[in-house]
Amino acid sequence: MDKGNENDELLLFLNTWEISNDNRIPIENLHTQDDLQIFSIRENTDALPDVRLFRNELRHALASGTIEGMNQWIIRRNVHTQMTTGSGKYRLEFFTNRHSIIDHILILVLQKVEEGQFHRYKICPDCQWAFYDASKSSTKKWCSMNKNSSTGRACGTIAKVRKYREKNKK
Ligand SMILES: [Zn+2]
Repeated sequence: MDKGNENDELLLFLNTWEISNDNRIPIENLHTQDDLQIFSIRENTDALPDVRLFRNELRHALASGTIEGMNQWIIRRNVHTQMTTGSGKYRLEFFTNRHSIIDHILILVLQKVEEGQFHRYKICPDCQWAFYDASKSSTKKWCSMNKNSSTGRACGTIAKVRKYREKNKK
């Protein structure tokens, strides 16, 4: 199975906007073209405001399940599709001729959709962190359930305590 990992460019891209763990203030991490150096695309030609718009739309799609906006991006970017075959299976492959971070990320999204794994990318409803749900049932809702996790967040636990308190108020 395809497991999420720290080098997952899709997660890296989604989390270029985040909410601080300490004071809960939103942080924008995309200010210059240099901020895109962490991605494998070189000499990006997309303007940063467009890159941020695309990222926000992608985050919105994952958080709400609303995909109309993403379909607009697919039409607008005109990423190329071709069929491939091998080991008795037909697959779709996507490619672009542009030096474009948007195209690059869009292709990663399309590949994950094609592989049937895109639903595993989620936005934590509490802290807004994007994460990959590698669980067998893929029913994880929060980024993590305990403070010892790699992100140091405990969203699932906090949400459960809150629910318990509300229930016991009545
Ligand atoms: Zn969280």
